[in-house]
Amino acid sequence: MSQPTIIDGRTVSNAVIEEVRRGAAELIATRGITPGLAVVLVGDDPASATYVRSKGRMCDRLGFRSVTHTLPADTREEELLRLIAELNADTSIHGILVQSPLPGHISYERVVETIDYRKDVDGFHPVNVGRMVIGLPANESCTPAGVIEMLKYYNIPTSGSRAVVVGRSNIVGKPLANMLMQKRDGGNAIVTVAHSAAKDLAAITREADILIAAIGRPRYITATMVKEGAVVIDVGINRVEDPGSPKGYRIVGDVDFDNVAPKCSAITPVPGGVGLMTIAMLMTNTLRSARGDLY
Ligand code: NAP
Repeated sequence: MSQPTIIDGRTVSNAVIEEVRRGAAELIATRGITPGLAVVLVGDDPASATYVRSKGRMCDRLGFRSVTHTLPADTREEELLRLIAELNADTSIHGILVQSPLPGHISYERVVETIDYRKDVDGFHPVNVGRMVIGLPANESCTPAGVIEMLKYYNIPTSGSRAVVVGRSNIVGKPLANMLMQKRDGGNAIVTVAHSAAKDLAAITREADILIAAIGRPRYITATMVKEGAVVIDVGINRVEDPGSPKGYRIVGDVDFDNVAPKCSAITPVPGGVGLMTIAMLMTNTLRSARGDLY
């Protein structure tokens, strides 16, 4: 069996980011509009703070304006909604992102619905989800959009291919399955969605020309679950104990990479795969919003 193509998230994300950088420079030069992203962080979750910092750094790299609002964990929902209303009205801000998870007393759904859907660069607002599903231009959810971008970059044919998505979350599985079925470039696939109620998951996954794992269980997809020659996209990011590493843990995907890779025609690694695409697509959405491309 020949070696599989390793679908390299860094290569694809760098290409996307470079295009965004060029687009932002042109927008600033020709129309005097600097893309602006506002990130709101509520509480002091260290992982969320790290994500927020990396988004700020990426904005700097791309010449975007970035504003971070850090609110204490006991912020009342009304206060957060008021801040979002201000950001909705601020014409220098084109994208608003409220970092999840939020403290339990705040409704994430209410927060997302308060964001002006035209500034919802996460693509989570029901208007954007609905528009995407019916094939209208929309801010599309970043991780699934990143997966589609990877498939396109590596010229992996989706049209007529049998795609199996394992996982049906609102942020990955459901939007990705919908994107894959859209009648457009990077879509037009015959899509099956599997989840925890699947009776014989392996029988379903073995049907896949393109198998996408968005489960959240380390190395759950094993070699016997994969058809020879399949393309495997691993969205999973899982911490597993690793006493040998300085941190005491390491990150693995939902796919048993070492044993699955030899059966595949192409596969994404973890880390170094899908995980790098999310921020690149977030910046793409912010640029499009600043240009007024979609609505
Ligand atoms: P989630 O909300 O926990 O959803 C997991 C999905 O997997 C659910 O639909 C669940 O089914 C299904 N599932 C769980 N166990 C299963 C099993 N044994 N057999 C079949 N299906 C099973 O997770 P998520 O937010 O979609 O994230 C999935 C993974 O992607 C996580 O590892 C997460 O860290 C990672 N992720 C990565 C990125 C990125 O790359 N930037 C972004 C988001 C998420 P039910 O619906 O029946 O419960």
